[in-house]
Amino acid sequence: MKQSPPPVTASTVNWISAQPPLLRFLHACYADFLPEDGGTVADYIPELGKADPAHFGISLATLDGHVYEVGDTKVPFTIQSMSKPFVFALALDTLGAERVESVIGVEPSGDPFNSIRLNAENHPFNPMVNAGAIACSGLIHTAKGDGAFEFIRQALSRFAGRELGVDEAVYASESATGDRNRAIGYLLRTNGVIAENVPDVLDVYFRQCAILVTARDIAVMAATLANRGINPLTEQQVMTPYAISRALSVMTSSGMYDYAGEWIYRVGVPAKSGVGGGILAALPARLGLGSYSPKLDKHGNSVRGIKVCEALSAHYDLHMLNRSDDARHSIIADYNIGKNPSRRVRRPQEQEILAKHFQEVRVIELVGTLSLSNVDYVSRRLGGGPRPEFVIFDLRRVTATTRAGARLVAEAFQELAALGVTVILSGIKRTSREWTTISEWTSRLGNIRDFYLLDTAIEWAEDQIVYRYGGSIDFVETTELSEQPLLAGLDEAALGDFAALCTVRTYQPHETIIAAGDAATSVFFLRSGVVHVTLPDGVRLATLTAGMAFGEMALLEPKRSANVVADMSATAFEITIADFERFRAQHPPACERIMRNLAQLLADRLIVANAKVDLLTSG
Ligand code: GLU
Repeated sequence: MKQSPPPVTASTVNWISAQPPLLRFLHACYADFLPEDGGTVADYIPELGKADPAHFGISLATLDGHVYEVGDTKVPFTIQSMSKPFVFALALDTLGAERVESVIGVEPSGDPFNSIRLNAENHPFNPMVNAGAIACSGLIHTAKGDGAFEFIRQALSRFAGRELGVDEAVYASESATGDRNRAIGYLLRTNGVIAENVPDVLDVYFRQCAILVTARDIAVMAATLANRGINPLTEQQVMTPYAISRALSVMTSSGMYDYAGEWIYRVGVPAKSGVGGGILAALPARLGLGSYSPKLDKHGNSVRGIKVCEALSAHYDLHMLNRSDDARHSIIADYNIGKNPSRRVRRPQEQEILAKHFQEVRVIELVGTLSLSNVDYVSRRLGGGPRPEFVIFDLRRVTATTRAGARLVAEAFQELAALGVTVILSGIKRTSREWTTISEWTSRLGNIRDFYLLDTAIEWAEDQIVYRYGGSIDFVETTELSEQPLLAGLDEAALGDFAALCTVRTYQPHETIIAAGDAATSVFFLRSGVVHVTLPDGVRLATLTAGMAFGEMALLEPKRSANVVADMSATAFEITIADFERFRAQHPPACERIMRNLAQLLADRLIVANAKVDLLTSG
């Protein structure tokens, strides 16, 4: 008896790498910077002085939702000033940009974060210094009254992807000692920046600073900033891309206290730190980093946290202004239907028309992000060739669309429409974010056709070419056995005997004629109607019309490998393999001819399949 192999368990598998390189790198950072013991724990808020200086946690969240964690990433600490970009974004979305931007500036102040000074217009310099942050809390208090803090807590929780709580002791400690911030509050009120009761606003601000987070939380919050406001774990759009990009802007110019200029010059990643010992860094479109280590340098930034960010940026060359992209990679294949027709098996008259007009259907398969430069490149590449009547853009492998890209797509479609070119899209799910972005622009252009499957799109365009050039696609035509390519070359006597062994079958629309996995006991010849052949995973192999055989692999294989389903009412001749063997005994040369015809049909299919593989591998 055959022995079954032992079950596959983690210990029996040799994994390619036990540790992803990024995790290995974070471990190395942890080991390298743990001995670093410079700096002091902030104690101007007495309760903060109780933090354990040994704690050190590093977490990195990717935009596809993976979170790496090294060290004390589960230790809670207060968010402090790292709440500021989030509350600024919340104020923008809650009160409207115009209102917020009219009372809070965006220039670096050059002053310490807690300076009791406003700009020349008597407004806070920016939302990252205490004056600006207290103004934001005040604006939210205007909108939400007593519910302001809870509103903020819930918003920050959405960024973290979990319910965040408050450190009551730190809150009470800051509330008891925060007279500088109170002074700022009254300064804001006397200048009309806030109209609220100052103690109420300060209460919101102190509580918001005392929200408890972990290094892991701030990595996820930073990743949400880096991901245009979509939390990569919950996939929720937490805030508008406008508010997110503006929060990142002020982090870039003023996020790291008096070290902000140096930071963005050297590290090049928008970041915000807090006196609790946290640093959050958000590299747009790439990652979010959260670190926790309570000892601060003279600027108020976590000593170890700064080292981690510097090392990460330097090692992987992550400076946000050090980037380039090659738009030419966005086209994965570019062909016409001469090289790669649809899987519909065409009759001779249709074949002739399509062979003559193959240049009228151009297919461009795109990959990656539809960005300004990618779409521009595609539109120039399209303009380079002869003008087709139909262009199909296959977006199946498009993973993202920027607003610039979508806008350019719409403008390109408009140009094509003006030239009389029909644009067809394929591979796009109507529920996807990409579709929403593109349709936002293209809906103004009226009817753009879209098909989920590229093959259906190609088939549709081919049909239009056939119609335009005088052909017809007649689905109900009845075709006799003599017209079957598989039976080509059989004499009348053989054909007559063959026909006598066949039974005429009738199928309803959507009826399954053959199911993959079943025993293959007969061959079919389609008389009328249309059927399609699909693999068990739904991939369509062919669409067949009257005059074509299906299930013919039964002559070679004992089992069905694909499904055949009627698209509309259909009729077919069926011959069982047992009867076919009877026919073989009666007409050996005719049978050999059938097998030769079958070999020819399979060879033709192989040639088309090879051409397709070639198209995809040569780009
Ligand atoms: N709650 C702190 C304060 O207002 C936050 C300071 C900070 O983290 O920069 O002093």
